[in-house]
Amino acid sequence: MQKKKINIAVDGFSSCGKSTIAKGLAKELGYTYIDSGAMYRAMALYAIQHGLINDSEIDETALQKHISEIKISFKNNSNGGQDTYLNGENVENEIRTLKVANGASRISTLGFVRKALVHQQQEMGKEKGVVMDGRDIGTVVFPDAEMKLFLTSSPEIRAQRRYQEMILKGEGALYEDVLANVIERDQRDSTRAESPLLKADDAIELDNSETGIEEQLNWALQMFNKITS
Ligand code: C5P
Repeated sequence: MQKKKINIAVDGFSSCGKSTIAKGLAKELGYTYIDSGAMYRAMALYAIQHGLINDSEIDETALQKHISEIKISFKNNSNGGQDTYLNGENVENEIRTLKVANGASRISTLGFVRKALVHQQQEMGKEKGVVMDGRDIGTVVFPDAEMKLFLTSSPEIRAQRRYQEMILKGEGALYEDVLANVIERDQRDSTRAESPLLKADDAIELDNSETGIEEQLNWALQMFNKITS
């Protein structure tokens, strides 16, 4: 008999391997993986493309006015992964730059942005069988998720991982810049007034500074089996 589907929330700081574990779980369980950060990134890309954000300011009034025109979706790609689409255009590569990450971190502090995206995310999880990663999934998006993970690791290790990913993709980056970006985003994510990054009371914390991917995934699968048995 097929097990009843549940929702799985994976939260934690930037670049601490949330997507690796969330994607791994979704693949093993036949669940849908949703990268909520990609939605904030796509929204930030829209704001950049339309001149609604610069180094010091966000044109909140204009962003709010246009928010209903911003359609974000995901489609499976031929590499077994998922690409993010903004108003029908594949923006998967464009949203992964430091500039967009920084913009996403800034616009994600705005209440109306969070409200719009949280609503879409909750719709995506209605039928269950979703593994979603982000910052507020276990606390705000799916407070009733049956399984909640909260990942942590040191800023230096996270910056090193992100830096290596960027170098492998051929994107020029300086380790110091990546570390500064990680620290800045941690600070903003944990201190913002709207849905700050918090571990849900019922989330299980995993510090993966010293843990390999396979070990983490096995641990998470054991937890899933315990919860659903
Ligand atoms: O996870 P990722 O680094 O791609 O997220 C980009 C930014 O979007 C984060 O720095 C964070 O500020 C924001 N975010 C958020 N809530 C989420 C997911 C991401 O505020 N659920």
